[in-house]
Amino acid sequence: MTKYIIITGGVVSSIGKGITSASIGRILRSYGLKVSAIKIDPYLNWDSGTLNPYQHGEVYVTYDSMETDLDLGHYERFLDVELPGIANITTGKVYKSVISKERKGDYLGACVQIIPHITDEIKLMIREANSLEDNDVVLVELGGTVGDIESQPFLEALRQLRNEEGKNNVMFVHVTYVPYLEAAKEFKTKPTQHSTKELRSTGISPDMIVCRSSSPIDDELQKKIANFCDVDERAVVNTPDASSIYEVPLVLDKNNVGSFIKNRINLNVEPDSSKLDEWRKVVKSLKIQSPTVKIGIVGKYVELEDAYISIRESLLHGAADVGVNLKIEYISSDVDNLDETVLNGLDGILIPGGFGERGFEGKLEAVEYAIVNQVPIFGICLGMHSMVTQFARRSGFDDANSTEFDKDVKYPVIDLMEEQKKVKQMGGTMRLGSYDCKLVKGTKTYATYSEGNGIFIGEDLIEERHRHRYEFNNEFRQSLQDAGLVLSGISPDDFLVEIVELPDHPWFIGCQFHPEFKSRPNRPHPLFASFIDASYKFSQRE
Ligand code: GLN
Repeated sequence: MTKYIIITGGVVSSIGKGITSASIGRILRSYGLKVSAIKIDPYLNWDSGTLNPYQHGEVYVTYDSMETDLDLGHYERFLDVELPGIANITTGKVYKSVISKERKGDYLGACVQIIPHITDEIKLMIREANSLEDNDVVLVELGGTVGDIESQPFLEALRQLRNEEGKNNVMFVHVTYVPYLEAAKEFKTKPTQHSTKELRSTGISPDMIVCRSSSPIDDELQKKIANFCDVDERAVVNTPDASSIYEVPLVLDKNNVGSFIKNRINLNVEPDSSKLDEWRKVVKSLKIQSPTVKIGIVGKYVELEDAYISIRESLLHGAADVGVNLKIEYISSDVDNLDETVLNGLDGILIPGGFGERGFEGKLEAVEYAIVNQVPIFGICLGMHSMVTQFARRSGFDDANSTEFDKDVKYPVIDLMEEQKKVKQMGGTMRLGSYDCKLVKGTKTYATYSEGNGIFIGEDLIEERHRHRYEFNNEFRQSLQDAGLVLSGISPDDFLVEIVELPDHPWFIGCQFHPEFKSRPNRPHPLFASFIDASYKFSQRE
């Protein structure tokens, strides 16, 4: 029988509910349980695909082609699983499904209402997301903050779920923030008390309260929270800001969260801290202080680090694998002339994915700099488009461009994919999710996947996740190859160029897919590990 752990948030958003959920999951998984996770986003968008990265951070892509919230990335990295797209439930999906059922006549005669139709649909979606596998535990994280109008139907559905599944099979964890008031020189518990009261007004009493704070809070304060919020003292846990998100499972473990959960929902496991030793090793490897490798991410969403969160984490996994400390510089490509001095101290340059013309020329300048100065450079999706475009421009195709930015360009080296030409609707219509890619033997890319943690699903086949409409234009295949570009990864039907590289450069690889969605702290993606390794070597040059 599946047990449910439901995670709600209070006081403010962005306090790390996703990390808390993923960390609880990591502990239970280390005990040997099969754990899955669901994220509920109460907004009306059907998926995250049309959201601006500045608002919600990166759009995560699942293997089965769903554009989701970035918390699915945390779950996949901490639990080392691959989640289906239905693990991200939104108000948009719930209402769309209910309305289409109503149109089909499924509720004939009934007045369709939030309770019971919307709440039933929410419970159905939670159970469906869990039905694909036999999970021991499913984490259900409710996005936003308790008290938000749009969360209410979800809280009601979750309350009903507890009654239907049984109180011993469902527990609630409330994650709050305990602010430190500089003027009074003390932590304040009142916001936690209020948000717990707000949660209680929906009929839900939390079984555990995880208090986030900027620094550790003392036992007395935790007792006070337990008392005022009517929660077992052992179930008030403090997670102060950690130097690494990967430490949070260890902090929760120190507070005996695993055994509290085991007892609360009767899990058939023996909680034992030593079961997290593997994870401890991973965390230790992520803490190497020197030598430092400096990587510049040249993109246009640099003001919000969350916009490149999976890339940041993948670089970190790669650095731990190589045994170096990672320093990331976020460099805006949205400038008339990219100031070369900002690139000077870098050991490696990464050009991430993106959309729209703004910042594209800055990316091309970074590519040019990397070619001229032989600096390792890694291009992902639009980053690969930048590499191909700049390579073409310096190979005699003056003003080459992607038709994403110039429809009438003379040399359209990147062009809209054929099947995209008829697409009118924007949501969920890109080339999305996992596709196979054939690696060409004898290339650096092939060697990288073979020597690293690359997972071949066939003789020379890999699978990677995609999110794009534009693609290397096959009309330029021959001429760009003649100019020295190597096509090291191609779709199995030989139609789409998936990876390019330059043989006479220390590390110049661009890929059409997003390898950052498959990197794990315990299994760094080979392209990231190899890129960091090359960057480290570059930092050691005479
Ligand atoms: N804008 C480009 C495309 O649609 C690249 C997308 C991306 O970087 N994810 O093909």
